[in-house]
Amino acid sequence: MSKLRITKIEVHEFKFPMKDVGKDYNGFNIVYKKGSTGTGFAYVTRVYTNEGVTGEYVGGDSPSFAEFNMFANYLIGKDPMQRELIYNDVKRAMRKFDKMGLGPIDIALWDLAGKYYGAPVYELLGGYRTSLPCYASTMHGDRNGGLDSPQAYADFAVRCKEMGYPGFKIHGWGDYVLSQEIETVRTVRDAVGPEMDLMLDPACEINTWLETVKLGRACDEANFTWLEDPYKDTGVSMHGHKKLKEIIKTPLLQTEHIRGVEQHVDFIASGATDLVRVDPDYDAGITGAMKIAHAAEGFGLDVEIHSPGPAQRHMMAALRNSNYYEMALVHPNTDEVGRSHDIYADDYRDALDSIDENGHVPVPQGDGLGVEYDWDFIMKNRTGGREYGG
Ligand SMILES: [Mg+2]
Repeated sequence: MSKLRITKIEVHEFKFPMKDVGKDYNGFNIVYKKGSTGTGFAYVTRVYTNEGVTGEYVGGDSPSFAEFNMFANYLIGKDPMQRELIYNDVKRAMRKFDKMGLGPIDIALWDLAGKYYGAPVYELLGGYRTSLPCYASTMHGDRNGGLDSPQAYADFAVRCKEMGYPGFKIHGWGDYVLSQEIETVRTVRDAVGPEMDLMLDPACEINTWLETVKLGRACDEANFTWLEDPYKDTGVSMHGHKKLKEIIKTPLLQTEHIRGVEQHVDFIASGATDLVRVDPDYDAGITGAMKIAHAAEGFGLDVEIHSPGPAQRHMMAALRNSNYYEMALVHPNTDEVGRSHDIYADDYRDALDSIDENGHVPVPQGDGLGVEYDWDFIMKNRTGGREYGG
């Protein structure tokens, strides 16, 4: 055991405005809406120790912090370097729940370990690379003059290609019309030519399995790189996706909506996905997500990391079997991506124009996650929170 002990943990909720952002047909998907201001909420976790070294992470959401509240006191007095023990204790204690509460605290503990050892997290994980190829991952379609037609998506895809992006992913409309969704697949491919990797992620909006077959066949004809979480089983049916794979040639990317290494392995072993989705916020932190990434490697498959962020960059930098960093959610008319850029006191950003001319982003080289949060901004916009220990 190390000499370090966790003495106190703070969680702060804060809010920030999102310019030209609204909601679509049923109030859930974030879409472009000129003149409307949305409100984003975020959480920051800060871990204190007896030796002064701290760990910090902005991530997680309201349900995950409700879970965290159930096991936070267990962490006080524990050795922060025993992430594997913490993972296993909490996993068992939270067995009735999805365990998403483990994500933010585990990532904060990796930040803490990096700061303690004086190394970036990706080096502790095992460095593989320092430059990450990105795809532009769009906001959902809107009916407000933004991504409101197949041609609008095609124009944006061409712009992203000219910026250097090697890949472009369409999140379609919530209130979709199947023929328009199919036309978008074809129009975007025609506009960008044969080389650019194209992906489609309906985010489980397609109502039926048979409509998904029709959409998947359009992806086949347009030579799409993957089809992701297409229909309203919400991405969890092994049988449904196995049957889709018998008919559709486009690789499927599933497992964004199932949790933990065991369920991911079951999904892979049943032959229900081609590419494996993982997210350190959702899948029990970097500790849990790396287990899934290496399990996928053992099956000879690739893992694609969900969403942008410093934890995602460090993970991908430590993996061979991963193709793309997801720059989400980008839009031609607004650079609000769902999480405020103002939270960083340094020049770390995840935005449409954060890439270099080859469409890559770097991995932060500072200790831990290698980003500096703007605590003045966070505390000024604080709406609530809780302290454990101390
Ligand atoms: Mg997705």
